[in-house]
Amino acid sequence: MASHTSFTGLGTRVAVRTFLMFCACAVVPSLLVTTLGYRIVSASFHEQADNRLHDATKAYGLLLFERLRQADELLYELAGAALKDELGANQLTRFESSRLRIVDITTMTDDANPVTDVSGATDAKDSLVLSTQKIGQEPEVSLTIKRSDGVRTVSIVGALQNDYLWDNDAILLSQAQLCVHLQDGGILHCSGEPVTDDSALTSNWSLFLPPRYHAAPWSIRATQANTALGTLASLRRTTLVVTIASILIALLLSVVQIRRSHYPLTQLTQAARRMGKRRFDTRLTISSKDEYAKLGRAFNTMTRSLSRQFLLLRTLARIDRLILEEPSMALLVKRVLPSLPRLLESPAVALVLQTNEELTAYVARIRSPAIQVFRLQGKTLSALERACGDADFELAAADCMEMSEALACRRVLGLRIDVGTRLAGVLLLSRNERLTNATQRRQARPLARRFAIALGSEERRVTLLRQAYYDALTGLPNRQLFKDRLEQDLARARQTGTSLALLYIDLDRFKNVNDSLGHSVGDQLLCEVGKRFSASLSGSDTLARLGGDEFVVIAASHDLEPAHVLVERLQASLAEPVVIQGSQCFIRASFGVTVYPRDGEDAESLLRHADTAMYRAKSSGRGGMAYFEEAMNREVQYRLHVEQRLRIALRERTLRLAYQPKINLLDGSIHGVEALARWQDVELGYVSPTVFIPIAEECGLIEELGAWALLEACTVFAKCLSEGLNLQHVSVNASMRQLHDARFLEDVGHALRVSGIPPGSLEIEVTESMLADNPTEAAATLNRLRDLGIRVAIDDFGTGYSSMAALSALPADVLKIDRSFVDGCDANPTTASVVEAIISMAHVLGKVTVAEGVETREQLATLRRLGCDFVQGYLFAQPLPGDALAQLPLQVAAWTELLSNCHPRQSPARLRA
Ligand code: C2E
Ligand code: CA
Ligand code: CA
Repeated sequence: MASHTSFTGLGTRVAVRTFLMFCACAVVPSLLVTTLGYRIVSASFHEQADNRLHDATKAYGLLLFERLRQADELLYELAGAALKDELGANQLTRFESSRLRIVDITTMTDDANPVTDVSGATDAKDSLVLSTQKIGQEPEVSLTIKRSDGVRTVSIVGALQNDYLWDNDAILLSQAQLCVHLQDGGILHCSGEPVTDDSALTSNWSLFLPPRYHAAPWSIRATQANTALGTLASLRRTTLVVTIASILIALLLSVVQIRRSHYPLTQLTQAARRMGKRRFDTRLTISSKDEYAKLGRAFNTMTRSLSRQFLLLRTLARIDRLILEEPSMALLVKRVLPSLPRLLESPAVALVLQTNEELTAYVARIRSPAIQVFRLQGKTLSALERACGDADFELAAADCMEMSEALACRRVLGLRIDVGTRLAGVLLLSRNERLTNATQRRQARPLARRFAIALGSEERRVTLLRQAYYDALTGLPNRQLFKDRLEQDLARARQTGTSLALLYIDLDRFKNVNDSLGHSVGDQLLCEVGKRFSASLSGSDTLARLGGDEFVVIAASHDLEPAHVLVERLQASLAEPVVIQGSQCFIRASFGVTVYPRDGEDAESLLRHADTAMYRAKSSGRGGMAYFEEAMNREVQYRLHVEQRLRIALRERTLRLAYQPKINLLDGSIHGVEALARWQDVELGYVSPTVFIPIAEECGLIEELGAWALLEACTVFAKCLSEGLNLQHVSVNASMRQLHDARFLEDVGHALRVSGIPPGSLEIEVTESMLADNPTEAAATLNRLRDLGIRVAIDDFGTGYSSMAALSALPADVLKIDRSFVDGCDANPTTASVVEAIISMAHVLGKVTVAEGVETREQLATLRRLGCDFVQGYLFAQPLPGDALAQLPLQVAAWTELLSNCHPRQSPARLRA
């Protein structure tokens, strides 16, 4: 199209077509008129020339005739005079001199005899004869006249003067030749230049001579160069020039007119095309005062409206995208609000939002791109809510004076921004008097709706973020956020070359609180601890709750304050008891500390090491703190290896039980055997139960191990019984985790059923420290065991700091005095008194005592003296494999012997039936 139009310079196809039609209209009629006119004019010219020539020919003929007549009359007169003899010589001479210049008298006869006339007849009348002849080139026309009076006959022959006869001056004929032809075709006379032109005009006229002159008629022929042709040629030239000129003028004018009318069309087309490419800034300027200008104005109005519509849609789409990507009101205000005044054709637009008890107005004005922020203290949305009615609203001073100033307008329109059913904000538009209230509202409504959606999604997002990154109970950062912060802090420390400390905190015996006082108290305690810790930290530190009773602190200010100082402060914050529902809770915590970069480079290892350190702190006593050491890490590696191997050992049943006898101090007889786990691993070698039992407890293998030990011990005991060996009792150690497991009682029942031994032969040993940690639930399980007739022994008694009250309530039949007391009882009187106290207390409470780890005779003697009931220790026997149990009775004699050398027992044991 462009190439087509560019060469015509007319712009459009329509213009070209119009131009061609103009051409046809201008050229065809003018050519037709010119051609036809020319033809008519040319024909009339020719006719006129012909007529003129004919007239001239005729006039010449008549002239010749007249001259002949004059000559013949002269001769006649002369002949008459001669007849009367009046013609003397003088007279003749006079005649000749005056009149005969037209005629030359060649002969004159006077005859007395009548003459015969020319025709031969004798005539008495007058005769006239004209004769012609050519003498050389010159023609000679002569007249012969005869007059007779009956007697005499006078005959005169006169030759007409050529100059006189042929003179054609009277005939105005230019560029013409006049010739007189005789009948035989010969040319008598020619005057004028011969005309050779092919287009010459000719005209003939016959001069009839016979009646008067008795001669053949002359033919007068005129030949004239066609003078009309010259005129016609100039006419043709003129006509051509005029025609071409008028056509050119017509074309020029048509082009001008076409351009004038089609230029706006081209503009419109281009503008429409630009609109098609979404360039809405297109404006038409058509300066003419015709319909095109009106069309242009209509087009501009349409573009403006379309552009606004499009901008509105684009803005809405942008808001939608923002809502989907990052529904943040702040971002929306920054990116979208400035464009609203122009879009909504409002001098100022304000977004009023309720944020934490405060009203904030963001105002954008059409003339300034910056957003102004107003905090409207003490104002509520309900003051503006009335502006959201249908009518215009006058902002009164009471509503928001600042608002009216900010909007520079008192008359406003308000649109509600509702999140759910709650009014969350108001979109205020200052009134544009050129638009109707309804139009302004219609334009702004979708935006208000979008703001509502954005606000709703932002709120939801904040809630989700809160849920995802903050602990619901304490409001502290959760594990996820803690990891993010730690990564950030580590990156910063890496950059600045500073160090940071990580504190792993575990509350001591928190489970007790939960179990004894209930979970709601536990929750309140955790919240209070969180608050106290937070209050003790600096702004750059992060406190997070990892779950349960575990907290962590990222101490970014480690370079300024060593971690242990911070730990002391945190410990001090727990010094005051926490009062919940009237009851006082004393709580303490164990702290494990790692330092970047010394103890680890990355977040994961730092956290793992801090955890390890915390365990170390816990095992070294409650309320303690430990820095991580590399040795701890090796220990952890080892523990992991043990755990891995232990799983295999349990699966492949490579664990064994060893049995250590308990001896009755009365007579040295076997009171029972304690089953102790033994593990010889191919990779780890011999692993002590003091190592693998805690690991099994930690990693959840203890239930399986305990169930196996129960069944194995009972089976071996049953086998001994069946072989006639009565070992009295078999003791199986149970860990705390087992006591909390509902399957434990089932496992016990299963072992009894499968082995078939009486419940009274089975004894379950539980360590005192474990019981002290969590007495209630364990006590219930132990009571159930005792109800089944199974004996319960408190292991390692004396290490668990049980209170007297707790001790008296302990559902146990046996107290096993810990080896640490046995160890010094013979040499140390204090220890001896403690042991004595334990024994007498046990007896008061109706329980029997077993002393563990008896290695020397002195110890044995002391224990016997102090009234202990039974003993167990290397002095009597090491733990033996199951198949060696049959040998035991053989040693009883030696044991009795051993006892007889000691001081006798003070008081007999009161054994439970
Ligand atoms: P425990 O129940 O207090 O077991 C007594 C420990 O003292 C045994 O160590 C035993 O070999 C050792 N022992 C006995 N007489 C003497 C002595 O005269 N001198 C010294 N120095 N030690 C003596 P062992 O077998 O290493 O067991 C350690 C602990 O492992 C046990 O302490 C018990 O708490 C736990 N344990 C062992 N087997 C099992 C089991 O099957 N289940 C559970 N839950 N715990 C077990
Ligand atoms: Ca034990
Ligand atoms: Ca023990």
